[in-house]
Amino acid sequence: MQWDIVIGLEIHVQLATRTKIFSGSSTAYGAEPNTQANAVDLAMPGTLPVPNEQAFRYAVMFGLAVNAEIERRSVFERKNYFYPDLPKGYQTTQLERPIVGPGYVGIDLENGETKRVRIHHAHLEEDAGKSLHEDFHGMTGVDLNRAGTPLIEVVTEPDMNNAAEAVAFARKLHGIVTSLGICDGDMSQGSMRFDVNISLKPKGSDKLGTRTETKNLNSFRFMEQAIAHEVERQMDILEDGGTITQETRLYNGDRDESRSMRTKEEANDYRYFPCPDLLPVEIDEAFIEEARASLPELPDARKARFMEQYGLNDYDASLLASDSRLAAFFEETVKHGKDAKLAANWIQGEFSARLNAEGKSVAQSPVSGKQLGDLVVRIADNTISSAGAKKVFEALWTGENDDVDAIIEAKGLKQVSDTGELEKMVDEVLAEMPDQVAQYQQEEDPKKRKKMLGGFMGPLMKASKGQGNPKLFNEILQKKLG
Ligand code: ADP
Ligand code: MG
Repeated sequence: MQWDIVIGLEIHVQLATRTKIFSGSSTAYGAEPNTQANAVDLAMPGTLPVPNEQAFRYAVMFGLAVNAEIERRSVFERKNYFYPDLPKGYQTTQLERPIVGPGYVGIDLENGETKRVRIHHAHLEEDAGKSLHEDFHGMTGVDLNRAGTPLIEVVTEPDMNNAAEAVAFARKLHGIVTSLGICDGDMSQGSMRFDVNISLKPKGSDKLGTRTETKNLNSFRFMEQAIAHEVERQMDILEDGGTITQETRLYNGDRDESRSMRTKEEANDYRYFPCPDLLPVEIDEAFIEEARASLPELPDARKARFMEQYGLNDYDASLLASDSRLAAFFEETVKHGKDAKLAANWIQGEFSARLNAEGKSVAQSPVSGKQLGDLVVRIADNTISSAGAKKVFEALWTGENDDVDAIIEAKGLKQVSDTGELEKMVDEVLAEMPDQVAQYQQEEDPKKRKKMLGGFMGPLMKASKGQGNPKLFNEILQKKLG
């Protein structure tokens, strides 16, 4: 049996306001437990919430960035449930009248096409605290610092059909909220958390199957793995003639396992009702227009500009424009390095690989855009080979020296590009390899000739102590061999 995969996402985005959504407590990450939750965050009797204007501004900016309708009048509800990290006994959220209505985001597919993923709505709500199970023996600790941190929850339509599309959407959303500056995007600290709804249906059928929801995925890699895992689990059940239970599941990325957390609850289980402590929020045109005027460049526009201004291809532009910090790093590199294509290659190659290997973000890179730009200049003007460039990069990264030219000098990496000198070396090497020269000259197949040409490069690099310019060697060789 062939199956269609159907995926819809719910994404919690922590808003980068300084204070909480209904109180003046700090939202800074990493403070001593329970030092940043006040009486309002805990809904102590006699306290009243005061909405944080900045959270509304950020939600409106988000709505505008995803082509959505902004609700002029939105309402807060109480979602009632008991849990230790929710001492209020309810979460203040929006159900009937969310601030952001239907919208959409375009994602780039691997085949070069663009697909629209519809956004059902996005609502404002407060985060809960955190239960800490690890540091206590036989007990659970509760840290309420996060309680009341503003979130927007973004809910998509079930428009994605495989893990790659879901991850492309997640990355796109990450690029949008970080470009807007409304979220720091730090997934390891929980600033963006993804819930993945997955169902299968017989190929081509237009009736959706029963879905499960896998909660709280906090990296793109875990998201991809969790989807693969859940698709396989559902497929096994369906192909054995079983049925899928609608439930919430938890995925353990370290073990590639999942387990059921609870069967699906309905909205009426939560006894939602309008929060009597908060008036409906009215947003006027001036507020929306002010937010619109403050929108920075977003990934789609940036991608188009990178193609136009730097002549990048679709793939490079899309990758570099997706993240605002990576994009800024690229532009700094090009400003000093001139050659945009070479800069793009280095950033996506050596630079990104190194960041990934050390688990660092662009902001934590020990190599600056200017330094990488200086390096690109020396590759482009043939001062160093690409092998030499890797050595320079290594020295910059480890902090051995911070100046590109000084490293080239100190390590003796300057390539010999004096054609007279190189020709002499070619003559000497060819004189020592008469058989290979004869074979080359008798060969008709251009592919084989090209391969044989490579056979002279080893001895030439050796003769030049690794410092001959390989491109020039190649040209001279072809000229001499005919
Ligand atoms: P509920 O109100 O029960 O939480 P929603 O209609 O709000 O359900 O959907 C929640 C999320 O699940 C949305 O992201 C939606 O796209 C997704 N979803 C709904 N039905 C399916 C389905 N059959 N398969 C996959 N995802 C689904
Ligand atoms: Mg829902």
